[in-house]
Amino acid sequence: MDCLFCKIINREIPSDIVYEDDEVLAFNDIAPQAPTHILIVPKQHIATLNDVQEQDLALVGRLQFTAAKLARQLGFAEDGYRVVMNCNEHGGQTVYHIHMHLMGGRPFAWPAG
Ligand code: C5P
Repeated sequence: MDCLFCKIINREIPSDIVYEDDEVLAFNDIAPQAPTHILIVPKQHIATLNDVQEQDLALVGRLQFTAAKLARQLGFAEDGYRVVMNCNEHGGQTVYHIHMHLMGGRPFAWPAG
C-alpha cells in the first residue's frame, strides 16, 4: 500500500520513534510546530476519521491515552497541551492514515486557524 505512515510503521522510511506498542507507533513530526510535536498513529491503516468503525473505538481511545501518557512522561501534562486530528481537505489533512498530533511546550491559541 502506498501510504507514508504504513512505510514508517514498517521501517521502510526512517523516523524518530518515541513510543511503540502492539497497536500504536509514535514519532516526532518532521516539521514540528511546537517544542514537542509527536504524531501518534495506529498500526492498522485507517485513511481518515470518517473511516473509523465501531470496532476501532478502543484503538482510537488508545491514541488519546498514549498522548496523555507521553505528555506526562515528557513533563508538560500539568501545564497542558494540544491534541489534534485533522480530517480531509478542510481539516488540513495531508497524510491519509489517521494520526493524532500531540503538541506541547508552549501555549496554544483558540480557535485554531
Ligand atoms: O494532519 P496532517 O495530515 O496535515 O499531518 C501530517 C503530518 O505529518 C505533518 O505535520 C507533517 O509534518 C508530518 N510528516 C512527518 N514525516 C513525514 C511526512 C509528514 O512527520 N515523512
